[in-house]
Amino acid sequence: MNIIEELKGCNVVGITGHVRPDGDCTSSTLALYNYIRLNLPEVDVNVYLEQPGVEFSYLKGFNDIKNIPEDKIFDLFFVLDCSSSDRIEPFISCFNNAKKTICIDHHVSNNQFAQQNLVKPEASSTCEVLYETFDEDKIDKNIAECIYTGIIHDTGVFKYSCTSLKTMTIAGKMMAMGIDYSDIIDNSFYKKTYIQNQILGRALLESVLFYDGKCIFSNVTKEEMDFYGVTGKELGGIIEQLRLTEGVEVAILMYDCGENEHKVSMRSKKFIDVSKIAVAFGGGGHVRAAGFTARGTIYDLINKIGEMIEEQYERNN
Ligand code: AMP
Ligand code: MN
Ligand code: MN
Repeated sequence: MNIIEELKGCNVVGITGHVRPDGDCTSSTLALYNYIRLNLPEVDVNVYLEQPGVEFSYLKGFNDIKNIPEDKIFDLFFVLDCSSSDRIEPFISCFNNAKKTICIDHHVSNNQFAQQNLVKPEASSTCEVLYETFDEDKIDKNIAECIYTGIIHDTGVFKYSCTSLKTMTIAGKMMAMGIDYSDIIDNSFYKKTYIQNQILGRALLESVLFYDGKCIFSNVTKEEMDFYGVTGKELGGIIEQLRLTEGVEVAILMYDCGENEHKVSMRSKKFIDVSKIAVAFGGGGHVRAAGFTARGTIYDLINKIGEMIEEQYERNN
C-alpha cells in the first residue's frame, strides 16, 4: 500500500486509533497526519483520539488532536493500531460516515473491519507497518520522531520478541534523520512522576505470586487511584516491572475503570499466548501483550485467567 496513491482524489481525511491511546497509537496517527500535511498540504486532515498522555506532547501535531467527533463526510478515514471497530468509540460515527476506510495495524486479533486492511501481526508496531506505506524521501524529522516513538513503545525499547531486523533498520533510519533518540526514550518511555513511582511501589508491594511463582498479579483500586490523583493513563510501567520478576511467565495487572468494571493487562515472557486469553474475554492484543475490560469480581476474573494459563501449560506439555 502506498499512502499517497490511496489519497488520490481525497479532500477530507480523518485519522483515529484505539481507545486509551498508547505510544504506538498516538505516534502512528500523528506520523500519518504529519505525512499528509507535509506532502499534500491542500488536504483537510484531522486526527481524532481520546486525549493521549502528556509525555507525547513533543510530537508534532499533538495540539491538533481532536477529542470530539465531527460530522464531516470523510473521503477517506484511517484507523490505526486498532483491532476492531468497537475500540474506536466515540469516533465510530466518523468511520461510518466515511466513503472509504483503511485500517493499518499489527494485532493478531484484528478482525479486518475496514474496507481495506493492512494488518501485519509479525510487525513490531503500527508505526513499522505505516512506515512501509510512506515514500522514504517524503519523510521529515517530525515524522521520524513519531515513527521512532511508536517503535520504542511497542518493543519496550527494542527488547520484546516482536523486534526484528526490519524494526531496527527503520529505527536506524529515523535516528539518521537527527532525532534526539536518547531524550525520546527517557522522556516518553522511562520518565515517571513522583506520584507514578509511588503508585508503582504500592502495586509491587501488594502484588501476589501464584501458580508456583509463574504468575504475578496486582490490582489498583479506584480508591488508590483517587488517593494519588492518577488515571489509568499514568499506570504505565507497572505491568512491565511485574513481568520482570524472576521466575514469572505471566504478569497480570488490573485497575478499576467503572462500577464493578476492570481493565486487565497481561504480559508473558516465552510460553503463554495472552492474546488467546484476552480474546476469550472479548479483548485482544498480541501473543506477549494483551488486554481486555470485564465486569465481575477481581477474584472471579483472576481465577478464570489462572485456569486458562494452566490449560495452556497442560496442552503444551
Ligand atoms: P495494554 O495491556 O492495555 O497495554 O494492552 C496490550 C495490548 O493489547 C495492546 O496492543 C492493546 O492494543 C491490546 N488490547 C488491550 N485491551 C484490548 C481490548 N479490550 N481489545 C483489543 N485489544 C486490546
Ligand atoms: Mn496500541
Ligand atoms: Mn501497537
